Amino acid sequence: MTRVIGQQRAVHFLNGLVHKGRIPHALLLSGENGTGAAAAALTFARVLHCENEDNLPCLKCNGCLKTSGLNHPDLSILFPFSARTKEETVQTTLRQVVADPYGYTLPDDHATISVDQIRGLQRQFAYGAYQGSWRTSVIMHADRMRPESANALLKTLEEPPPQSLIILVVSQVEVLLPTIISRCQFLKFPPLQPEDIQVALIERGLEEMKAGSVARSCGGNFRRALEVEAGNLAELQDRAFRFLDALVWGADGRTYAALEQLASDRQAVFDVLKHAEAWLRDALLLQADKQTSVVHAERMEDVQRLADAFDVGRLCDTVSQLESLREMNARNVNLQLGLLSFWRSVRGYAA
Ligand SMILES: [Zn+2]
Repeated sequence: MTRVIGQQRAVHFLNGLVHKGRIPHALLLSGENGTGAAAAALTFARVLHCENEDNLPCLKCNGCLKTSGLNHPDLSILFPFSARTKEETVQTTLRQVVADPYGYTLPDDHATISVDQIRGLQRQFAYGAYQGSWRTSVIMHADRMRPESANALLKTLEEPPPQSLIILVVSQVEVLLPTIISRCQFLKFPPLQPEDIQVALIERGLEEMKAGSVARSCGGNFRRALEVEAGNLAELQDRAFRFLDALVWGADGRTYAALEQLASDRQAVFDVLKHAEAWLRDALLLQADKQTSVVHAERMEDVQRLADAFDVGRLCDTVSQLESLREMNARNVNLQLGLLSFWRSVRGYAA
């Protein structure tokens, strides 16, 4: 099982709860998917069912074997599904969630936590624990609860049975009812430190330099790091460099056509602008003699070319223009004009 990556503060807090024997009835772990809220929730629940006393499940005892096999009677995991999801898919997904809380397949857009799932939890909590002393339930993506599910859950939170723990995992805490939030002990999972991500990627077999490069380009999110690593990082980086190359040095007619085409594909714009910004930041780092922090360490010559083409002030200005283009893209504004004026400005700046 994956350990919790980074998040020292949250982990320290959770370990403290176990050591002091002060387990609350409800925990609310909030963080973008990939920052480790899910991993921490599952680890914490499993520690309560482990027969050995430690900060991590031992993975060997009877309790751990049952929690990893999803057949511990005192641990339930609720996950959003759509009404038509087959039981087989449910089991596969849950197994994936336990095996890799950072990399499992996210629920589809229409999936919700149904009121039946909450009633199942209530039935589980209605009797004493079968084994050991705790009844636990982890509600993954709890921001996907239907209103009637949230209301049903609220009743349990208002009158929690003794020795019971519900852990809600959310990426958008503001979606929850305030009455639910107020009954939970709240714990926030901020973006991860690149160093923590790098170490975790190396543990998964990635070579050190590549791990560093991925870790610095994934926005503190391990799920994104896995996606990036899974395939398209080099390709996306190259496309973004070709974009900058065309803006700075390309022939007018071809650059114009390429920008027009790019403007029509929002996802491509998102990727190209994000990675173009990373290239320009690298050029800035090089100008500041900070080679070791460069993301594109494997393409130092290209970073150097960019660093040579701009002075520091113009480079900073270009980065902030890119940021505003990204904001426009996020607001669904058509980018054709924005890209063209960005091009004119870059062309005017470049040496
Ligand atoms: Zn164990």
